[in-house]
Amino acid sequence: MSNILAEYIWLDGYRPTAGLRSKTKVLDADEMARQGAPEWGFDGSSTQQAEGRSSDCLLRPVRVATDPIRGEPHILVLCEVMNPDGSPHPSNTRAKLREVAARTIQHEPWFGIEQEYTLFQGQRPLAWSSEGMPGPQGPYYCGVGSEKIFGRSLVEEHLVSALRAGLKISGINAEVMPGQWEFQVGPVGTLDVGDELWLARWLLNRLGEKYGICVSLAPKPMLGDWNGAGAHTNFSTREMRLPGGISVVEAACEKLKIKHMEHIAVYGAGNEERLTGKHETCSIDQFRFGVSDRGASIRIPIFTAKNGAGYLEDRRPAANMDPYLVCAKLLETVCLG
Ligand code: ADP
Ligand code: MN
Ligand code: MN
Ligand code: MN
Repeated sequence: MSNILAEYIWLDGYRPTAGLRSKTKVLDADEMARQGAPEWGFDGSSTQQAEGRSSDCLLRPVRVATDPIRGEPHILVLCEVMNPDGSPHPSNTRAKLREVAARTIQHEPWFGIEQEYTLFQGQRPLAWSSEGMPGPQGPYYCGVGSEKIFGRSLVEEHLVSALRAGLKISGINAEVMPGQWEFQVGPVGTLDVGDELWLARWLLNRLGEKYGICVSLAPKPMLGDWNGAGAHTNFSTREMRLPGGISVVEAACEKLKIKHMEHIAVYGAGNEERLTGKHETCSIDQFRFGVSDRGASIRIPIFTAKNGAGYLEDRRPAANMDPYLVCAKLLETVCLG
């Protein structure tokens, strides 16, 4: 008999920003081959998902990936949290997205999310050493060399691990603020982008443990003349990708304009500190879209404008957003609005 170590991963009930939780289930390889990863449970009273007197919550596997840390045949099992009666738990934002995804499937939506994050050691980002503050922004973005780059070993290991887990990572880069990085997931379909982003976040945090480095998704980790951290959400439908789709992209922007504040409400806590109109953002109480405009709410990439078809980039979501909520809102506004 051989065992498979299955790391069950789920989102907790913390508000306004859910956290990641995981625990290990030892599975019998033969049983796993016959039945797949089984449902499981956890103590919801320890994750703000239940009262102590009736504490059981259910874990329903929705996506299984190779565990790149333990190696094959071990697996990561992303789960939805359900009530004991099998209905979705109120904290289960993926359940709502499932419904919206089913109602918009004919539009063949694609999403690509750029996850920015900041690496911390103790209370400070990596570049803020005992020697004090790093020099002003400028040389760090896509830089090379120890005076500009902080945490690359973790970042590289994360990239390779995420690919080994089968996640569709399309690239990584060092960001404008020192110690800040980005990886991109996609383009993939509606549920996949959220699942893969949450799995990639889990992997990054888990690998950080090896280095004694913490991952912050705070939208504005350092006040002052330092860039914040976002999660630009690139979005297209089949109609946008077909010849002449630019008019569909522009029509989508007009719809998004009307629903601006509804979107901001689910685009991440503390985003008002980031969306100031400075540091490549548009102010939180304005909505603008434009070709190549990195100071706009929605940027239409130059290739989309040139080709007359493609996608739009929603630059408003903060790094700490829940992709299930953001994708649901975009689909509701653009495809169902
Ligand atoms: P930026 O220039 O904003 O830094 P990136 O190269 O970091 O852009 O990210 C671009 C993102 O756009 C990637 O995540 C990619 O998956 C996504 N993307 C590319 N084409 C499409 C498309 N047709 N629909 C949705 N997303 C797309
Ligand atoms: Mn990018
Ligand atoms: Mn970026
Ligand atoms: Mn971007």
